[in-house]
Amino acid sequence: MAKRYLFLFIVLTLGLSGCVTVQRPPVVRPERFARGTIENPIVDSNITLSEALRKYAPEKFKARQRMVEVLYYSFDGKVHKGQIVIEKRLVGDIQEVFRVALDTRFPIKSVIPISHDKFYRDGEFNSDGQSMLSNNTSAFNYRKATGSKKLSMHSYGFAIDINPVQNPYIKGKVILPEGAVYDPSKPGALTRNCAVVRTFKRLGWDWGGDWKSLKDYQHFEKVLRRH
Ligand SMILES: [Zn+2]
Repeated sequence: MAKRYLFLFIVLTLGLSGCVTVQRPPVVRPERFARGTIENPIVDSNITLSEALRKYAPEKFKARQRMVEVLYYSFDGKVHKGQIVIEKRLVGDIQEVFRVALDTRFPIKSVIPISHDKFYRDGEFNSDGQSMLSNNTSAFNYRKATGSKKLSMHSYGFAIDINPVQNPYIKGKVILPEGAVYDPSKPGALTRNCAVVRTFKRLGWDWGGDWKSLKDYQHFEKVLRRH
C-alpha cells in the first residue's frame, strides 16, 4: 500500500507543478558583447556591391560578381567583419574557407574590396600597391596578371590573395609586396599543411605556393568556364 501512495504522490506532485523546466537564457543584445567578438565584430568593410564594383571593368565581368560577408580573427586577436567580391559560383567555397579560418583562428589582417576608399590613390584604385602594402585580402580585381600582358584570374573573380605581407609573390629577385619575407613559421603564413590551404585544395582550388616557376604564396585560384 505504501508504494501505491508514494506513486500517487509523485503523479500528483508532477501534475500540479508541471514538467521540469530549463531556465530560459537571458536575451543579450549585440552591444553587450565585447567589441571584437563573433557577436560584435570590428567592421573593416561595409560597402554595397555597386560601390565594390566602382573600379573599371567590362560589364559582363562585373555582372558575375557577388559580395560575401566574412568573419575572421585579425592579428589583434579580435574578430573582424569584412567583404569579399567573388564570382557567383565560388561564393560557397569562400564561405567554407573563411569558416575554417575562423574555427582554427588563422589570422587574416583585413578583408576589404579593392574599390574601397581606403585603396583610392591618385585618381585610381591602386590595388596592387595599396591593398598589398596594407596586407589586405581581396579577390575580384580587373587587372593584368603580375609580370604579364594577360588578364589575371582576379579579373574574373576566380582568384583570391590572402595576407600578402606574410605570403609574398616571389619570382627571382622580384618580391611583392616589396620587402616582404616568406617565413612559414609566422602567424598568418600559408603552408601546405595549414587548414586554410588544405580546404582550398579539397574544394578544387590551386595554390600559388605549389607553383614551380614562381611562388605566389598569397594566391589561390579556381578557374571555371568563362561562358
Ligand atoms: Zn593573386
